[in-house]
Amino acid sequence: MSNRIRLALQKSGRLSEDSFDLLARSGIKIRRHRDQLFCHSENFPIDVLLVRDDDIPALIMEQVCDFGIVGLNVLQEASLAQNAQDFTDRVDMIHKLNFGFCRLSVAVPRDFEYKSVNDLAHKSIATTYPHLLQNFLDKENIQAKSIGLTGSIEIAPRLGIADAICDLVSTGGTLEANHLKEVQTILHSQALLIKAKPALDRDKQKTADLFIRRIQGVLLASESKYIMLHAPKDKLKQIVAILPGVEHPTLMTLEGDPDKIGVHAVCGESVFWETLEALKEAGASSILVMPVEKMMM
Ligand code: ATP
Ligand code: ZN
Repeated sequence: MSNRIRLALQKSGRLSEDSFDLLARSGIKIRRHRDQLFCHSENFPIDVLLVRDDDIPALIMEQVCDFGIVGLNVLQEASLAQNAQDFTDRVDMIHKLNFGFCRLSVAVPRDFEYKSVNDLAHKSIATTYPHLLQNFLDKENIQAKSIGLTGSIEIAPRLGIADAICDLVSTGGTLEANHLKEVQTILHSQALLIKAKPALDRDKQKTADLFIRRIQGVLLASESKYIMLHAPKDKLKQIVAILPGVEHPTLMTLEGDPDKIGVHAVCGESVFWETLEALKEAGASSILVMPVEKMMM
């Protein structure tokens, strides 16, 4: 019985580099070969299947792969296209991964006078996400015609194929270049780690648990900062209250300075310049903020 688990990743596209980078930061070495469908790790019992992102939900549903990395947009579209209960019985969302950020939005030509979602009534909307679009229109009680296209959605209005589009946007540059304006966001998306729900056999489950812990450790570390500072004793409470996401700081006496205390803490949230300025204002000195490389709770 093998303990190797199988992970589905996008072969080439917007999620590929960040997905491989996440594995590397988790200490999982994968050697990639061009045009290869499969690659293996030599230092972790995991095999990687490289596919189109749209195929990943089905590969997890059918248990061809144990894990996958895919955008929420693709996952929700797949879920709406199936029996939703069946989908949630078979696919588990494990973690948001903090990359692949985009939104699914409705955009209209610049000269379209758009005031509210009601202006979409009886219009035709081109999209590659017919189920997410229909779901949105149903919730808003709007009757509109969805036109399924597989690519180049943004030129549909100019070609006279549709009045509006519903597509993924990150910076808005593509819309701008095609004389379109974003008027309505349907979904905020990012990459997710998903897992087949049915139980694995014991050895694979051990690998799966280890894999999830590694990924969680990397995400936790990348969001965290280690902060050190000196605080006047009488300002200690006030200063600790400013530290973002800190519950139990370590306090130390400072040799030769009985009026101050050394404070060390892991901040679970971003530490901005404004936070440092507020600490300084409250009386803190010698403030140091450092990245956290690895973390295990
Ligand atoms: P494939 O050949 O794998 O089907 P694709 O053309 O469907 O590729 P990409 O454009 O590489 O897919 O996008 C993959 C995912 O990246 C999207 O489903 C989405 O979750 C995310 N993404 C992030 N930013 C954007 C963006 N600006 N436009 C499109 N997708 C984005
Ligand atoms: Zn795709």
